[in-house]
Amino acid sequence: MSVPQISEGSLLTAAAKAPRIDIKTIAPEGTVLIVNPHPDDETFGCGLAMAAAALEGRTIAIALLTDGEGSHPSTKTFAPNELAELRYSEFARALEILVPSRRVDVLRLHLPDGKSRYEASLAEEVLPFARSHGASVIWSTWRDDPHCDHETAAALGRDLANDLAIPHWSFAVWGRFGERYVPSCLCTFDAPVLAPRKREAIAVYRSQIDPHMIDDSNGFTMPPALVDHFAEHPEIFVHG
Ligand SMILES: [Zn+2]
Repeated sequence: MSVPQISEGSLLTAAAKAPRIDIKTIAPEGTVLIVNPHPDDETFGCGLAMAAAALEGRTIAIALLTDGEGSHPSTKTFAPNELAELRYSEFARALEILVPSRRVDVLRLHLPDGKSRYEASLAEEVLPFARSHGASVIWSTWRDDPHCDHETAAALGRDLANDLAIPHWSFAVWGRFGERYVPSCLCTFDAPVLAPRKREAIAVYRSQIDPHMIDDSNGFTMPPALVDHFAEHPEIFVHG
């Protein structure tokens, strides 16, 4: 996936006119189970909604598909397991900022970053976690996010929701940018009072936003314009 440099796209154009959605609609009573491809998608994609859901008294649980070790494939400073743990430490800190009042349980699936494929056995692996946490809704990345791990998360979210007979909401991360199909069931969530908290959580992800932190000219860095975009723009949800 080539990294977009500017925050433009058909989804963003549609989002400007899309209806705003209430947190109680996307987070019914119980537990929000987030199917998250990489450590950081939860913060960039649905950090505001996660914080708002926790303030409404919802429990948050996360199925984390990969450890994110693929973001810097050529680093000589970090072994893959060290990079994975760095990314997990950023993830854990971001969760503390977004959901300070309660513990967020995480199921780590350790799928290969950048190489995952959805198989039904994945849902079988996550279902006991979802059931034991009383999942009342699934949030996942969007099926049209152009990244294989995001597609895996979307398919897993869909099947978990079907198996549990609960709603599925997708949040768009990379699918926000560029020209693509716009679903009719698009809506946005915003909570300006929580925006400083989201920006603080984004700042924790230094491995993803600071090009000087890890020695890898092939490494991923979120462009500053997109950091600002994610920190300031309403979150984009699609039903299903
Ligand atoms: Zn991702």
